[in-house]
Amino acid sequence: MESDNYNDLVKASKEAHRKWRLVPAPQRGDIIRQFGNELRNEKNELAKIITTEARKIISEAEGEVQEAIDMCDFATGLSRQLYGLTMPSERPEHRLQELWQPIGVVGCITAFNFPMAVFAWNFCLASVCGNSIIWKPSPHSNGCADALKKAWDKVAGEHKNIVLILKGRNEEAIQLCEDSNIALISATGSTQMGKELAPIVSKRLGKTLLELGGNNAAIVCPTADLDLTVKGITFSACGTTGQRCTTLRRAFIHEDIYNEFMEKIQTYYSTLKIGDPSDKSSQLGPLISEKSFNDMQKVLSSLKEKDTKIYGGHRLEVGSSDEFYVMPAIVEVLQIEEEMLNETFAPILYIKKFKNLIDAIEMQNNVKQGLSSSIFTNDMRESELFLSSEGSDCGIANVNIGTSGAEIGGAFGGEKDTGGGRESGSDSWKTYMRRVTATVNYGSELPLAQGVEFDES
Ligand code: NAD
Repeated sequence: MESDNYNDLVKASKEAHRKWRLVPAPQRGDIIRQFGNELRNEKNELAKIITTEARKIISEAEGEVQEAIDMCDFATGLSRQLYGLTMPSERPEHRLQELWQPIGVVGCITAFNFPMAVFAWNFCLASVCGNSIIWKPSPHSNGCADALKKAWDKVAGEHKNIVLILKGRNEEAIQLCEDSNIALISATGSTQMGKELAPIVSKRLGKTLLELGGNNAAIVCPTADLDLTVKGITFSACGTTGQRCTTLRRAFIHEDIYNEFMEKIQTYYSTLKIGDPSDKSSQLGPLISEKSFNDMQKVLSSLKEKDTKIYGGHRLEVGSSDEFYVMPAIVEVLQIEEEMLNETFAPILYIKKFKNLIDAIEMQNNVKQGLSSSIFTNDMRESELFLSSEGSDCGIANVNIGTSGAEIGGAFGGEKDTGGGRESGSDSWKTYMRRVTATVNYGSELPLAQGVEFDES
């Protein structure tokens, strides 16, 4: 459906949902399976659109399409597993059961940096659960949205309007948030965006699923395998040119291995291939915009005034004048600096020494965001402490893996200023449904719960 009229779009989405919810879930799953096959067939072309718009290197762009395909497979399996619990009833001849029903129209607002995968996380779950979706993509990635819509339309038959696209900027996102026809707002983007949109939805007592900014950290302990660690840290800090919500921004390194670590990471950084993202040999493409570059430079300038050592961070003479390629920055700090507490969406890695693991965990947790975290160690007492209730306070906690590059099977999301939402695997699908607790009396008496009596005698 092509319509510039918001009300027409919502009307069409509601009508599509009403039909779609009557399609048995395994049949919905089968259509999503066909969508996944379409993405498989078009994988290379779709990846090229991501590279053109989001400026991701080819391998990451292909990985992103793969993630969307994996989500389709996951949703297909899920279509036969939207289980509700059955609980023993305290009353004779009664059945107590949970039923999961679709919620209606899902409004999905997405960021520039995962222009296909985040839609797939939301769409695959929302649609297998019987909902329709109105997608407001980032203004940087309208072409990605068009390409996925086209692929869906090829397989959707009479259910094309299950996916509708609302292009635009803040105004369109706000319109969705204000609209009580939209049962769930799933919004991915900066914490500031979440803080602006969440009150609009909660004012009408609507439901939100928020996936916001991160400020992710890794702790490197004395027993860590340093070659593996340096590789993991570099990928997390520099991959996608530091523009992932899970990008590693802070690393706490034990004093016993600090010098060796610094030497190895600088050597590794010096080998990075930075250039045209459509060239297969490039590991880092440009930043998304001049604004991102300016934000990065502003933070680095302010750090120069402080007790820090800064390596890299400068603009590289690569590409055209409106492209912003940078050397990723490493910033050694002696104390926690104000700049480290915020998410700068660019490749800046802060490095700080520590003595005690407990202190390192505290420094890691002591930020407003709570998305992803890692520990590198071969001492199981340290890794178990990190995963315990005294350990990482993030939604994602990894051992001997960097902070980025999650698989779809687990629930994805973070705590605190990251918004608390969970998408993708595990039981994240439940957010896209309403839970009905049903009690069925199949006897001829009417016993009341808790032994309450209400007889006329
Ligand atoms: P952004 O916040 O600028 O934009 C995200 C989306 O929200 C876009 O569609 C945009 O049009 C809309 N938007 C932004 N501000 C708005 C406002 N004030 N009112 C209404 N709509 C608004 O984010 P971005 O630059 O596209 O992406 C980077 C940010 O997204 C980073 O903070 C990153 O950590 C976060 N992110 C989080 C996750 C996650 O899963 N937690 C995933 C990807 C990106």
